[in-house]
Amino acid sequence: MRYLILSDMHANLPALEAVLADAAHVGYDAVLVLGDLVGYGADPSAVLARTLALEPLGLIRGNHDKVCAGIEPATSFNDVARASIEWTAGVLSPAELRTLAELPMGPAQIPGGIEIAHGAPFDEDYYVFDTRDAGRALAAASARICLVGHTHLPAVFATGEISASAVAEDTIQLPATGGILANVGSVGQPRDGDPRAAYGILDLTQLTLALRRVNYDIALAQRRIIEAGLPEWLAERLAHGE
Ligand code: ZN
Repeated sequence: MRYLILSDMHANLPALEAVLADAAHVGYDAVLVLGDLVGYGADPSAVLARTLALEPLGLIRGNHDKVCAGIEPATSFNDVARASIEWTAGVLSPAELRTLAELPMGPAQIPGGIEIAHGAPFDEDYYVFDTRDAGRALAAASARICLVGHTHLPAVFATGEISASAVAEDTIQLPATGGILANVGSVGQPRDGDPRAAYGILDLTQLTLALRRVNYDIALAQRRIIEAGLPEWLAERLAHGE
């Protein structure tokens, strides 16, 4: 069984399309979406539709989806994030906002011994950055393999032989026992210094996790952001992957 793992698309349609084309080539059986479909990018409506059309086996909300839907105020957001989420709420239809509002809160259990969370199993808004955070997250997880997003930084943590690793594009052989916590990075707004779109393929039969990076039309995504009147920094950062 192969799972396509998508997180933090952030309304970046060119990045999502490039990832889906690459993933179709690799092949997968089911799709897991870890939240933050909208916010920052200029194509929230199309990204929402494209994501739902994948009929994900698992789909949870992120903090940007939650704030955009009006479930929570934008008090924890910086000015740029707030400006973009207000713009997003203004361009989505009432039906699309309802769909966002109805996205379930993580964590969610997926058949095969997987748990998905946007931030961490104990708090959907918590950022897992280091081994200590990962240890807490794994202790709270109710499945052996826990997949998270939110930081936009690919990383794999495992109890036992792998203590911690920030990882680049690679296929990782996962240990057969012990907890595994993985972040495949962000489709629409990578922040690890590599501007290419990030996603993952988890193969439960081979026990491998492929962390994949895909080139996409960054200039197009930037143009869309500028044309929408969104803060220019949001376009700029895509070129640097930060
Ligand atoms: Zn995010």
